[in-house]
Amino acid sequence: MYFLPAIIGRDKHDAAGIFLLNLFVGWTVIGWVIALIWACIAEPRAHVRFVPVAGRFCCQCGSLTYPGAHFCTACGRTV
Ligand SMILES: [Zn+2]
Repeated sequence: MYFLPAIIGRDKHDAAGIFLLNLFVGWTVIGWVIALIWACIAEPRAHVRFVPVAGRFCCQCGSLTYPGAHFCTACGRTV
């Protein structure tokens, strides 16, 4: 129950700050409430996904070409 703000804010951008505030100032009721509010309003951490791409992108039109292609299938330019 004491670490509820840290648990709520564990996936947020300010997770370390929320945890430290909860740990050191949470014993005061106002510090715990501030940590809880901060955990609820903090922005979620941005997730970056890696998508493997076998082909290459054309630098002229941005189309995805076949792996090993030397010319773009959309515009015909050299890849
Ligand atoms: Zn192209």
